[in-house]
Amino acid sequence: MIRSSALAPRMRAISMAALFAALPAWSQAPQTPQPPQAAQSQPPRAPIETRKVEGADNVYIFRNGNHQAMFVVTKEGVIATDPVAYGKPQGGEQYVAEIKKVTQQPIRYLIYSHHHYDHIAGGKAFKDAGATIIAHRRAKQRLEKLADPATPLPDETVDDKGRTLKLGGTTLELRYVGLNHSDSTLVMRLPKEKLIFVVDLLPVGQVPGRGMIDFHPLEAEQSIKRILSMDWERMIPGHPGPGDRLGTKKDVEDQLAFLREASDTVKAAAREGKCWEPAEKEVQLPKYKDWPNYANNLPFVIRRYCGLWGRGT
Ligand SMILES: [Zn+2]
Repeated sequence: MIRSSALAPRMRAISMAALFAALPAWSQAPQTPQPPQAAQSQPPRAPIETRKVEGADNVYIFRNGNHQAMFVVTKEGVIATDPVAYGKPQGGEQYVAEIKKVTQQPIRYLIYSHHHYDHIAGGKAFKDAGATIIAHRRAKQRLEKLADPATPLPDETVDDKGRTLKLGGTTLELRYVGLNHSDSTLVMRLPKEKLIFVVDLLPVGQVPGRGMIDFHPLEAEQSIKRILSMDWERMIPGHPGPGDRLGTKKDVEDQLAFLREASDTVKAAAREGKCWEPAEKEVQLPKYKDWPNYANNLPFVIRRYCGLWGRGT
């Protein structure tokens, strides 16, 4: 199952290449759409991949497509996070199968990082494996109302004071640091390993995008400062960073600086009456033009700050 799905993107890439090779010469005129450069020069990645975090004995990153989650293997069982299976009906089972390749220990917990389905749909396979699902209390409140069939409700909730899980010699802190990317984000910290897992609030070296829709701009800055004040050295993001690297405190400082610059720039535009347009089309932050997704994602960032400074929301 995993193997055949792993081949699917490559087969698509090959059929795209065959399609372009088959086009007649006149179709090579400049206006002809071309496959993206990356598709020509890099082999497609396997859709599913599990890797060990270097320098940590028992911490792994499971990636499904462009989403990823952390799991920790202890001698008394596994603590998994985020099923990352939105729109992927087999994704939860595939994640459980990947864990079983690493350990025969039972999966004891599944922690939801926040309530967004792209990260937490697919939990049924974990429930079936006997895991207890834990999330922030507001994640449960939202999930109860929406009753998404792919997203089981948490069995236990964490309030704003957070919770510390101890299992098989591993300590995992679930910290609530305020409103930010959503109203239900749990920052997960492994104090001994000096690792944190933070989903969506802190993309590594990238411009945030559509996720800005329910972002809390003012409170997020406070959240980020709280994260910076914690004791950690490396950050696992919920989406792969450039070259799959983990984040550092410098990345977090850079993301905070980006958000502040976006905020200040849009505030000035808003006070000239430029929100929503023309600000969304005009505002540029050239210092960040080389960050992945700059051109595509900047309008979503501008829109959110126009909501704040041009509308009062
Ligand atoms: Zn999210």
